[in-house]
Amino acid sequence: MTSSTCDLAELELKELESALAPLGIEPYRAKQIYSWVHGRAVNEWEHMTDLPKKYRKSLAEAFTISTPRVVQRTLSGDGTMKFLFELTDCRRIEAVYIPDSPAHTFCISTQVGCAMQCTFCLTAKMGLERHLTAGEIAAQVRLLRSELKLLEQPVNVVLMGMGEPLHNYEATMRALRIMTSAHGAALSPRRITLSTVGILPALTRLASEPIMPNLAISLHGTTEEQRSSLLPVNRRYPLAELLATCRAFPLKRRSRITFEYVLIRDFNDSPADARRLARLLVGLRAKVNVIPLNSAPGIPYERPSSAKIDRFGRLLAEHRVTVSIRKSRGRDIRAACGQLVLEGTQPSPSQQLAGLMDTGVPSTPTSEL
Ligand code: SAH
Repeated sequence: MTSSTCDLAELELKELESALAPLGIEPYRAKQIYSWVHGRAVNEWEHMTDLPKKYRKSLAEAFTISTPRVVQRTLSGDGTMKFLFELTDCRRIEAVYIPDSPAHTFCISTQVGCAMQCTFCLTAKMGLERHLTAGEIAAQVRLLRSELKLLEQPVNVVLMGMGEPLHNYEATMRALRIMTSAHGAALSPRRITLSTVGILPALTRLASEPIMPNLAISLHGTTEEQRSSLLPVNRRYPLAELLATCRAFPLKRRSRITFEYVLIRDFNDSPADARRLARLLVGLRAKVNVIPLNSAPGIPYERPSSAKIDRFGRLLAEHRVTVSIRKSRGRDIRAACGQLVLEGTQPSPSQQLAGLMDTGVPSTPTSEL
């Protein structure tokens, strides 16, 4: 890589320090630059006023700061906002802002599309187009913080947008290091949640990472057969092994693993399912997040009635499971869990799921930027 192609958005602080040396710029300047780019979301050199002018010129020649373009924002009736980003290769991804107190939440993507083929998820219909780079993952947080004027406030980040973060392990971990750097956005790892289908070798590797996000596991089934029919990955990494890996996972003090459970009418919503789920989690520091299915054309399942959703939650609680039922936010703008999909994108033929590309799901843009 020549210095003229170096993308600063990809660099960790130490790497930036080294990259400044050939330009004759002191290492401590890296912290200043990091604070502009990641802390204050500034990506124009002329605005970095504490850097001498002559440095700004050579930095502009040596580095790009690649930043996705916000092409659309869509506002939901409940305040949720979906952002459509265009990457430098014109591919597009989505991220979602969920306003709340005490902290706001950003739901960000780790891949363009997804390879996991979960049968109830719209993103799966895209297939995997490509992994995001660390810079592209971190940039979603950078852009949302600045677009929403939340630079000074703590935010939660959930890796629950498009893609499977542990399938894009290196870039995801690098992005976490960039986002948590004390000289950049300084996000606390306690405010970051990584949600995964459970790619076991990667999960085991995650256990020894110095930066440890909260862990959410997409469980969704209580028997091998049931889970395999929702998550094909279960055939490779079965439920029993997933739970064993979770039991061995080193948890921080007072923290627990969240188990996500998409509740599907007449499929996994019976009292027997609730009891089996409670039994599977005995001895685990766990909480269950029940997500009533967000149904959509092309998804061959239905959402249970509110009464069944409540009954499922109550049964878990009676079995001493800590349980919350996730409110679906942004369903009217197709921003809720599993609803992120970009129509008209073109996965390669090997990844294409025949006949399923056109989901016919409408979106309602409120502002084309
Ligand atoms: N690949 C990761 C993160 C992305 S999805 C994972 O699977 O965990 C974030 C959550 O939304 C997952 O728990 C996923 O199973 C859930 N989800 C997907 N499609 C959904 C749908 N149609 N309704 C409700 N939740 C869904």
